[in-house]
Amino acid sequence: EAFVELHDVTLSYGRGASRVDALATTALRVGSGDFVALVGPSGCGKSTILKLVTGLIRASTGYVYVAGREVGAEPVRVGMAFQNPTLLPWLTIRDNVMLPLKIVPPFRAEYRAKRKTEFRDRADALLEQVGLKGFADRFPWQLSGGMLQRASLCRALVHDPQLLMLDEPFGALDQFTREELWAILQDLWLTRKPTVLLVTHDLKEAGYLANRVCVMRARPGEIIEDCPVDFARPRT
Ligand code: ADP
Ligand code: ADP
Repeated sequence: EAFVELHDVTLSYGRGASRVDALATTALRVGSGDFVALVGPSGCGKSTILKLVTGLIRASTGYVYVAGREVGAEPVRVGMAFQNPTLLPWLTIRDNVMLPLKIVPPFRAEYRAKRKTEFRDRADALLEQVGLKGFADRFPWQLSGGMLQRASLCRALVHDPQLLMLDEPFGALDQFTREELWAILQDLWLTRKPTVLLVTHDLKEAGYLANRVCVMRARPGEIIEDCPVDFARPRT
């Protein structure tokens, strides 16, 4: 069934003379456990779609549903990662990864109720899965860009999100590191199966990771192509 639905959504920023029509009438259905990539030129409305789905902005017209309810009506566990890893510099890598568990219900209450060791194991298992086993006690400044982005993927997934939002997560990395992280992200998706929305400029990345690619164009911002990716084909 659909986990994310946009029903004839339009979105304009501002009003009057400064109004920007960011999205023309847009329909999108993302199945539960799907990995959808949004690709298209700068300014076509990719981030706008992510902001609508997380409820950061409201549709000008139309409706956004997440988990069968209008967005915001019910809490949904969301994980996010951006181009900039945004780890907190005064926390170790492990503590950064554990952060959502201290904040997000229902984990927050359990965290207070002394299940910290269990949560620590959970963070460590993820760090091991992405090849950061020996780095849990380091601080962010001690790691490379690629390692920081792996840690931020762990942080985005540690609370078992139903929805994973990735906005150009590998945009700042060199091609080699980027492709290394594709394999890691794919492994994380296959083992946990969150519904994923990935924004990227990189068509190769979209084709590698997603099982569906939506191509957008700007002015007006709209989805002009929506195609499944054959998951069985060999990958390079
Ligand atoms: P993308 O993520 O594809 O680069 P965005 O969704 O960020 O595109 O932006 C879509 C359009 O809306 C662009 O023309 C952008 O300039 C405009 N826009 C984005 N955010 C705002 C805002 N807060 N106020 C006004 N215009 C905005
Ligand atoms: P990435 O591919 O994640 O960007 P690098 O290419 O910077 O990583 O580093 C390659 C390898 O060097 C890493 O996988 C890691 O084993 C090691 N390394 C990088 N930075 C450090 C560090 N600060 N301390 C110890 N080992 C490191």
